[in-house]
Amino acid sequence: MKKYAIGIDLGGTKILTALVDRQTGEVIEHVKKKTKKEKGAQNIIRKIIESINELLVTCNLKQEDISSIGIGAAGQTDRENCTLIAAPNLDCYNLNFQKELCPHFNIPVFLGNDVEIAAIGEMKFGAAKGCDDFVCIFVGTGVGSAIVKEGKIITGATGTAGEIGHVIVDLNGRQCACGAHGCLEAYASRSAIEKRIEGALKKGRKSCILDYLEPGKAITSSMIHKSIEREDELVTQCVTEAAEYLSGGIASIINFINPKLIVLGGGLINAVDFFYQKTIKKARAKSLPVPAEKIEFKKAALGDFSGVIGAAFLEDRS
Ligand SMILES: [Zn+2]
Repeated sequence: MKKYAIGIDLGGTKILTALVDRQTGEVIEHVKKKTKKEKGAQNIIRKIIESINELLVTCNLKQEDISSIGIGAAGQTDRENCTLIAAPNLDCYNLNFQKELCPHFNIPVFLGNDVEIAAIGEMKFGAAKGCDDFVCIFVGTGVGSAIVKEGKIITGATGTAGEIGHVIVDLNGRQCACGAHGCLEAYASRSAIEKRIEGALKKGRKSCILDYLEPGKAITSSMIHKSIEREDELVTQCVTEAAEYLSGGIASIINFINPKLIVLGGGLINAVDFFYQKTIKKARAKSLPVPAEKIEFKKAALGDFSGVIGAAFLEDRS
């Protein structure tokens, strides 16, 4: 077995590429580049090629030393054909990574989605180490999840299983980016909280989050955290409301799948402990008594690296 693999976490804002030691899960070296999706798919491919070459040079390794290139992308993937079918957040459609990278590297390429690779990372070396039956839920710009059963990711008939963000929590609710109404993502994501706060500020509500806001810039998880620390009424109210919806979605998952463990991660969970604590307390209270008694909750442990570490193990799927 070759010692190293390249793991790539391809997200809407950044492309994180890492050289991973497959024995220890250690990230030896990493390169971060901005996605800039408006410049097109070929620009993303160019940045991936550059990142891999940079890592090989920095670590003084040859292509023969690398067992695989694993990519996790924020979108719908055809794993068998190594093709990103549709990724609105990346503005990529029908992009075949094997074909694109083949002229540059003689290394096998594997594709998965972004939550899947984070779940594999957490299972191998993070919060779910030693557990083969869990659900990973990531809350950030959107809400995504991956279901792991007997150590394997459940992908579903069309490869899209785990879309917890589009579980409908309000039949006549807010419009979601997917076109449906009342999806969990429209209530419990960082973007949903951001919209609630901005809407209230426009109506003249007072909030200390104004101390951190810069014109034209988005509200970040860290600004939400600082405002809650200062017991800001508006921000606390919006985050509590999001936790209410997220816990409802999680309780449904607990009742439906009955996992041993739920791992929660992503920017909002990492930065705002208040949100995490509220969510898990309410999720337990809303679940059926038998699964509620046994369910365990943990925060994701690998931070920004869970995806790249997991991507280095996509090759084990086949
Ligand atoms: Zn939706």
